[in-house]
Amino acid sequence: MAVNAGNTGPRPGNSSPRSLKQRLESLADAGVCDLPKRARKKSAATVAGARTAAAAVPGAATGGPQIELLAVLREEVAGCQRCEPLARARTHTVFGVGPATARLCFLGEAPGADEDASGEPFVGRAGQLLTKIIESCTLSRDDVYILNVLKCRPPDNRPPLSEETANCRGYLERQLEIIAPEFICCLGTTAAQTLLQSDETIGKLRKRWFSWRSSQVICTYHPSYLLRNPSAKREVWDDMKLLMAKLGVNL
Ligand code: URA
Repeated sequence: MAVNAGNTGPRPGNSSPRSLKQRLESLADAGVCDLPKRARKKSAATVAGARTAAAAVPGAATGGPQIELLAVLREEVAGCQRCEPLARARTHTVFGVGPATARLCFLGEAPGADEDASGEPFVGRAGQLLTKIIESCTLSRDDVYILNVLKCRPPDNRPPLSEETANCRGYLERQLEIIAPEFICCLGTTAAQTLLQSDETIGKLRKRWFSWRSSQVICTYHPSYLLRNPSAKREVWDDMKLLMAKLGVNL
């Protein structure tokens, strides 16, 4: 599976007038409301370190065991029948995508129709917005690992039931334990409350740092929420600035 199938936005670093205009429009779509005085470009390798840059290449020395462990887990998930109605209705399980030793994971809620059809997380409208947010941080989807709490699509995109979350939790934990990212960014209430085992609202969980195993966790609004409430993009951009500062990415 292509790591970067949903990544169609203009790339950082291309500075023709047309692409600059596209880039500015994309930044505005992602909620970027302030730009640095001096543009500073960070390469994926700088962001990710040798750990991610090497692991992004299948078979590379770094991340070999993690790639295999994730492949085994992916197969197990593909055969899962724990939530019988979801298993019956699904086209694909949606496991996750990205470097097996990524420093940063984005955790969403559950696949929607586009993800169920393709088997890849965050490829629909919300996914395109997530891609823009990632690119606004001067990263690309190839630099990060993207996964969901649920691996199967709930009917009509309803929020996961607590029983479904409980059924999938073991997969999520094993997946994150294998990747062992330095940072996890929870997108929306389901991701934040599930990972942190909290019942606080996403509004209360934002702007704070948590730990999960060895990872530092930050929470922000889900891209689907941003599609309905574009004014909240400013808050997400503030959250990304906190996250990028800890990652060592200059925005
Ligand atoms: N929303 C999610 O939480 N995950 C996806 O993969 C797509 C939409």
